[in-house]
Amino acid sequence: MKPTENLGSFLAHAVVLEDEAAQRYDELAEAMRQHNNPEVTDLFERMAGYSRLHRAEATDLAERYAGGLPALKPWEFNWPGMESPESASMEGSHYLMTAHHALKLALGAERSAQAFYAGVAAAATTDRIRELATEFAEEEADHARQLIDWLERVPPPDPGWDEDLDPPVEVE
Ligand code: ZN
Repeated sequence: MKPTENLGSFLAHAVVLEDEAAQRYDELAEAMRQHNNPEVTDLFERMAGYSRLHRAEATDLAERYAGGLPALKPWEFNWPGMESPESASMEGSHYLMTAHHALKLALGAERSAQAFYAGVAAAATTDRIRELATEFAEEEADHARQLIDWLERVPPPDPGWDEDLDPPVEVE
């Protein structure tokens, strides 16, 4: 059951992706709270909220149009355009020491989700999957744009503050 061919499978993938995103934003929000950065804490809490809304929407669509979410086994997932949601997950709190790094980590995850949805849209074999995947990809692109705006306001720390600290995702 490929997400490009089966609506239930597509929505099951979306639920996993959004669930991972919500958990990651919860952790990022907590890290920023500990670093006394209320603005970025608020941003991440809002983003976690978007992910939970999105997950609820995918669950609801599955109930209405696909007979409910299929119970896919871990190996039955198929992630074209990305390794897996875990690959974008937190690589360790080492990278969460600054708001800049937390924002970059979140941006990498949003781009990875966008690439997944865009990949499904491009290869979809039904109109409904194509339409939904396109819509979801646009929402992820909007999340990425919000993070890019924030990255412009939150510059990287001075060089050398931690010699080998480089986030696992690039902004470029
Ligand atoms: Zn998103």
